[in-house]
Amino acid sequence: MIIRARRKQFHVLSFLLPFSLLATHFVQGQAASSPAHLSVHWEELTAADFREGIHRSQGTCLLPFGILEKHGPHLPLGTDLLDVRYAALHAAEQEYAVVFPEYYFGQIAEARHEPGTMAYSREMQLALLQETTNEMARNGCKKILIVNGHGGNESLLPFFGQTQLDKPHDYVVYIFDERSPDHGGPPKKSKIDMHAGESETAKMMVSRPDTVHLDRATSESGADQHRQNLPEGVYTGIWWYARFPNHYSGDGSLATREFGQFRMIAWIDGIVKATRAVKADRESLRLQNEFFEKAAHPLETRPE
Ligand SMILES: [Zn+2]
Repeated sequence: MIIRARRKQFHVLSFLLPFSLLATHFVQGQAASSPAHLSVHWEELTAADFREGIHRSQGTCLLPFGILEKHGPHLPLGTDLLDVRYAALHAAEQEYAVVFPEYYFGQIAEARHEPGTMAYSREMQLALLQETTNEMARNGCKKILIVNGHGGNESLLPFFGQTQLDKPHDYVVYIFDERSPDHGGPPKKSKIDMHAGESETAKMMVSRPDTVHLDRATSESGADQHRQNLPEGVYTGIWWYARFPNHYSGDGSLATREFGQFRMIAWIDGIVKATRAVKADRESLRLQNEFFEKAAHPLETRPE
């Protein structure tokens, strides 16, 4: 069932995304046991093929980060997880990287009042992510690119990145959180479009059209209800619920597949570029090591 669904996903964009991995791997002198096509899915590799995958990816692994939360009245709970995996898996097919399995243990306290939301405690979110990246690195993923698919992680992930400096690590955590291009493509019709609105609905029409119930998109309001009056610069955790109590922001009924294709291709392209940059990066780990060494003896640190 899962395999069939995945095949279907890959079929949707196959006319737009050339896969060159099959053609490029028959190189003279390659070990006879080396497989022609290595899956990018961590969970589909044998132990021996995993070793080959880490070698081929130069130790670069993707961790697509989703969530389980309500997405308006018309999109599935796993929207962010399904979308981010679709984008990351297609990107890894273009620029080989090992992709970690489904990960959805992020920040979503603000949707605890809606059915189907899985909101782990803050301690668990940080501990699980740290143990996951530690274990990935122990298995050779020395460059871990977290690909964020969920707006509620926008504070969590930079904080996680910052706390990687608290003690020495022999790997680097990179965070990629650019899900939408700021210009180009078909014009956007809606002004408010923050959650389950035009953009997210359009992308789901590409990644998993079978899960989109467009006819239900106007059955709840996704309007900004402005129920808090505080000056700009004053933050409270309840701000989102104050503005969008239905956990819906925008109007999904305005979505088109054409708009979704533009957004999805731009996202995939962005992940490919980020993966290439991470693979080429020689500085971050060197600087981290230098930093950790100095941090152990701060009195010996001299201006450079
Ligand atoms: Zn979402």
